[in-house]
Amino acid sequence: MKYVFGNWKMYLNYEETVSLANTLAGATLPESDLTLAVFPLSIATKPVVDLFANTKFGVGSQNVSWTPKGAYTGAVSALIYSELGCKYALVGHSERRHVFGETDEAVRRKIEACLQNGLTPVVCIGETKAERDSGGREERLIAQIESAFAGLNMNGNEIIVAYEPVWAIGTGDACDVEEAAKVHAFVGAQIEKTIGRSLPILYGGSVNAKNVLSYLSEDNIAGVLVGNASAKADTFVPLIDAASEISK
Ligand code: PEP
Repeated sequence: MKYVFGNWKMYLNYEETVSLANTLAGATLPESDLTLAVFPLSIATKPVVDLFANTKFGVGSQNVSWTPKGAYTGAVSALIYSELGCKYALVGHSERRHVFGETDEAVRRKIEACLQNGLTPVVCIGETKAERDSGGREERLIAQIESAFAGLNMNGNEIIVAYEPVWAIGTGDACDVEEAAKVHAFVGAQIEKTIGRSLPILYGGSVNAKNVLSYLSEDNIAGVLVGNASAKADTFVPLIDAASEISK
């Protein structure tokens, strides 16, 4: 089983989001054991959950607030997304970290909030181009893994990690499969060292219908997190078709 997750970011407005979910819910997809999910615009969560009822698609939030309920202007909590029918939540996506200044500490609190409210966090980690070029990739990944997971009470809950090199997100400059597999081995070993168990690790960064199968063919790449190519039916459906080849 491999994961194919689509992060629709803020590419689509409310109507466009509902329309894409409607199209995907009615699409004929090949038989496969892929685990599929999308992460829609927050205000369209409810209709997307409803449209995907009885389909293969799960739904997640693109972010959560770690605060529960109350006087938190502009926040939407893990509890509320869970009540709406979400199964997953992206936590610490690079755009949250780099555009909105989300800290490692905030990421950890969001992971804890997800676990307390029955959401599976998809914890995004990855280095910038400057960190990679200066040889600081490992150091950055270790810092992100330790701050996210050290001492965390997982209570046997599911957690997914997404390795998303910042330089590969939305750039068309996907990480070479061999390089991604090497980094996944490193990340996997660090996670084992930190929490004493392994977690599924997805690759994200300019994945498309052409390259998806090469990532999924690596044993230590548990799936893909897709941005741009997931936000249109005519790129996402072929990507899912190509990915389905992995279970044949
Ligand atoms: C992402 O935003 O998580 C992502 C991987 O984007 P893209 O596929 O567009 O690089």
